[in-house]
Amino acid sequence: MTTVCLKAKKEQSLLRQHPWVFSGAIERIVLDADHQGGEPYEGELVCVESKSGDVLGWGHWQVGSIAVRILQFGAEAPAEGFWRERIGEAYKVREAIGLVRKDNDTYRLVHGEGDGLPGLIVDVYADTAVMQAHSVGMHLERVRIAEAIVAEVPQVEAVYYKSDDTLPFKAKIDGEKVGYIVDSRKSKVENEEFWAKENGLEFRIDWLRGQKTGFFIDQRENRSLVERYAKGKDVLNMFCYTGGFSLYALRGGAKRVDSVDVSEKAVDLVEVNVARNFPEAKNHTAVAADAFEYLSKMRAQGRTYNIIILDPPAFAKHRDAVKNALRGYQRINAKAIEMIREGGLLFTFSCSQAVDKEAFRLAVFSAAAQVGRKVRILHQLHQPQDHPINIYHPEGEYLKGLVLWVE
Ligand code: SAH
Repeated sequence: MTTVCLKAKKEQSLLRQHPWVFSGAIERIVLDADHQGGEPYEGELVCVESKSGDVLGWGHWQVGSIAVRILQFGAEAPAEGFWRERIGEAYKVREAIGLVRKDNDTYRLVHGEGDGLPGLIVDVYADTAVMQAHSVGMHLERVRIAEAIVAEVPQVEAVYYKSDDTLPFKAKIDGEKVGYIVDSRKSKVENEEFWAKENGLEFRIDWLRGQKTGFFIDQRENRSLVERYAKGKDVLNMFCYTGGFSLYALRGGAKRVDSVDVSEKAVDLVEVNVARNFPEAKNHTAVAADAFEYLSKMRAQGRTYNIIILDPPAFAKHRDAVKNALRGYQRINAKAIEMIREGGLLFTFSCSQAVDKEAFRLAVFSAAAQVGRKVRILHQLHQPQDHPINIYHPEGEYLKGLVLWVE
């Protein structure tokens, strides 16, 4: 076993159970006999020791500033049943908080560090789990992880692996990055058309061609809030993707719902989803358009809404992009606020991990001030309970939102 020895005092954060070891904290590395000099292999399980030789934990080696992501703290190495145990625990949490139901078979099963599995994401859609590895260590374990998912989650019969966009870009990776690892579904699905339920609404989930794992589960609770306020309202769902917010607004009795996304494929999916759940609906339109252009055009036509939802993609993917991202949030929010009728609501979100709550709130308030509208915060929103945050790893908090009353 390769051992990573830390510099003096650098054990502190690990003793507090922070799951990352930064490369700057490492004093030396003792490679095991399989290596011919150099560094540990990317993805290798290594043991981490303090300067005084105490074993602090075990984790996957990575190339980059985060050198080790800890899987297990303490002196004992992960045992044979490690994957089943961790995944079984994650499943029990979802079950206990009421997410596993007949009318709700869509939930995030594993949320990386938040579930003690750094670098791993697993979303469940009916009988299929979609799994993404963000580290080479998780990639190397993919078969064992998939087997553990099928063993621990009664509803799951297939595991689709989708890591072509998530694995470290420069890593040398052997083995398939995409495809079914396990598939024991008895009835093969015609035309690969998969449906899953969220709070009783049916969504077509296209993990083969869709973004991320195929669906954004992280807005479930916030969509319910839109449903609560939608009755009789004109609603604009901007950045709609598969139309999550639109379906909830329709069920809530909205007078009219407009869904907009720049992707034609997304717009097709929204239409399929609306037709499946509300075959009679005549009060929904879906448009493929750029958000900024659409808002400018509608404003020129004098269009206004009671409720606007803004759920853009992460404007800041890295820390250095935060300033520009904040300008982007201010611009899009200003355009939206201008189009909200008196006494209307803005549901506005940021999923950029690098943009914190305060900075986002300031950007949104600046937007309101810029267009001369008075607003008050009715709700402060965040990621839901199946996207837990490890208390020793606050970096896991990424989704934030505000519901503003616009005077
Ligand atoms: N609200 C969605 C998730 C949004 S993800 C849900 O509840 O599922 C962000 C979406 O923004 C993606 O579907 C992407 O296609 C779209 N998008 C990205 N840039 C855009 C732009 N400039 N104008 C409109 N949509 C855009």
